[in-house]
Order: sequence, then structure tokens, then C-alpha cells
Amino acid sequence: MPKERTVRVTKPFSYAVWNDQSNLPLNFTLSIIVPTFNEAEVVETFHQRLTLVLDKIPVSSEIIYVNDGSTDNTWQKLKALPQSRSEQVLIALSRNFGKEAAMSAGLEASRGAAVILIDCDLQDPPELIPGMLAEWQNGYDIINMRRRKRYGESWLKKLSALLYYRLLNRLSDIHIPENVGDFRLLSRRVVDHINALPEKTRYMKGLFAWPGFRQHELFFDRDPRLAGKTKWHYLKLFGLAFEGITSFSVHPLKLATWIGVAISLLSLIYAIVIVFKTLLYGDPVAGYTSLMAVMLFLGGIQLMAMGLLGEYVGRIFIESKQRPNYLTSQKIIRSGLHNKPSA
Ligand code: UDP
Ligand code: MG
Repeated sequence: MPKERTVRVTKPFSYAVWNDQSNLPLNFTLSIIVPTFNEAEVVETFHQRLTLVLDKIPVSSEIIYVNDGSTDNTWQKLKALPQSRSEQVLIALSRNFGKEAAMSAGLEASRGAAVILIDCDLQDPPELIPGMLAEWQNGYDIINMRRRKRYGESWLKKLSALLYYRLLNRLSDIHIPENVGDFRLLSRRVVDHINALPEKTRYMKGLFAWPGFRQHELFFDRDPRLAGKTKWHYLKLFGLAFEGITSFSVHPLKLATWIGVAISLLSLIYAIVIVFKTLLYGDPVAGYTSLMAVMLFLGGIQLMAMGLLGEYVGRIFIESKQRPNYLTSQKIIRSGLHNKPSA
């Protein structure tokens, strides 16, 4: 069951929207969730561009900034952001828990009928929000923003992304949309379902796809980062990719079985060949090279299979500890300016 939400009295300019599940009046029509980690350079520009868009939409909104344990002065900058019509919710996590945890924190704090996740570095243009809202009003529960072009990304990153999505979808039982990052709109009921999922390994791309419901895709060209550096390097991306596969599929576990079966069959054929060769031509002991090659190959495969098993056991270990996904150290709510919508 979805967690209980604090419901506050609707504000003067907010248009109450009723949650189709619980019939509770929601405080906001729109929640924007922004995970930030060391984004002091961009956060002000981002906020300016976002509020410019939000102030023109005739719906009530809240902007939730989750400070994911930044070590620069992102938090100070967040606290000093200028007011707009939107309410500001500032959440500080007690340390850096990673983007997935920061997004979970935002989703759990959100009170909007529609929820949009967006990056802080302006790679996801806030100007697309009205279009996303329009699709939501057409009755879709999830609007995935698909990257058509990825400016400022190397060919290696694009190629690895392409291959990764192919592999992921081949292996997992649910369809995870390709080239869709975390920029997307979710309806209240989807957010409630995701918040109610108990797992600690939160591979968000998969979790967003898991509830199903009516999904729609919009295309956009992804801009390069405004300033600062990407927080993802290849090792971390590889970790995330691996996590995605192992948390949404048990097929890799079967891989070891199939490789084992194939090797056993091949060995059988080879054994028969050797027996016949020995019977026909005698036994000149030879083949140090081939022996070594086969031994090393099998050793490698065995270690790989064990490691894979270890991955899954490790996942069970982490889940069984039941630790929270993140800890919050501070939460600030600053109400928005109560003027009438301009449009
Ligand atoms: N981010 C975060 N915690 C982290 C890493 C990143 O909250 O541990 C945020 C970051 O501030 C940004 C978003 O996640 O708003 C996307 O990060 P980034 O731009 O570095 O990723 P990329 O766009 O290169 O995939
Ligand atoms: Mg980025």
C-alpha cells in the first residue's frame, strides 16, 4: 500500500486535483524533482529557467530540490534561491547516497498529481514541461522523454548505451525504454506504487517501467551539460548497468548452466576423438599447449560463474539488511508567491 502522505490545506492558487486512488485532495498539480550533487555552478541558472516555465503554466506546483550530500556550496545556493509561484521544498540528505536514492527521496516527498524528474545541469530542457503536462492530461500515466540526439557525448558513450539497452531488454522480462534517462513524468498512482516497492537496490530506469500503465514517448535533443562535470565515469556507469541487469533478470544465472552444458558436450566429442586417435595411432604423449589452454579457459569460466552467483547472493544480503535508502538531515519548505497564474 502507498505510504501515508501529509495533506495540507490547498493554497489560494492551487487547483485541487483528486487522486483517483485514495480520493485525497492533492496539494499540488505538479511536482518537479531535482536531484543535485555538487551543482553550485548551475543551480541558479537552472532555477531561473525552470521558474520561468512554471510561472507561465496555470497550475500549482512545487519544486523539490534534493541535495545529495554535495561537498560544494550547492546547499547554500539552494537556500538562497529566489521565490517564484512554486513552493520550494529543499531536502538535504545526510551524505551522498547516489542519484537513485536522491530521486527516491524526492518521489517520497512529492505531493503532486503529476511528478516530473529532471536533471539540474540543464541537459533536460525545462521548456518541455508544458508539453509533458499536456500528454499527461491526455490520460497517460508515464511520459518518457527519449533522447533523439545526445549533444556533447562521446561516440563511445553513445555506442555503449545502444548495446547496453539491447542487452538489458533481451535479458529482462519487462521492457525498459531505450535511450530514456530519468527525465520523465509520472502520474500520482505510479509514484505511489514505486514508493511502495520494498526493494533497496533501486535501479530507477527499471522501477519506472515496472508498474506498466499507459506510457507515452516524447522525443527531445539532449543538450550538453551547462557547466561542471558529469558525475558518472565509466566504472560507475558499468556498475549501474550491471545492477540493472542483475536486479531485473535472473537469466545470467542460467548462463552458467548453458555454458556448462555446451562445454560438457564439446568435451565428450573431444574425448571420443582422442580415444579413437589413441586406438588407431598409439599414444605419443603430447599437447601441453592445448591442455593449458583448456584448463585456463575452464578455470576462467568457473570463476566467472561463481562471481555471478556472488552478485545475486550479495543482492540478497543487502536486501536482508533492510537499511533505509537514504537519511535526511534537513528539510525546508518555502511557500511560493500567491499571485494568480498569469496564463
Ligand atoms: N546526481 C546526484 N547524485 C549523484 C550523482 C548525480 O544527485 O551521486 C545528480 C546530478 O546533480 C544531476 C543528475 O543527477 O542533477 C545527473 O547527473 P550527471 O549530469 O552528472 O549525469 P549525466 O547527465 O552525465 O548522465
Ligand atoms: Mg547531466
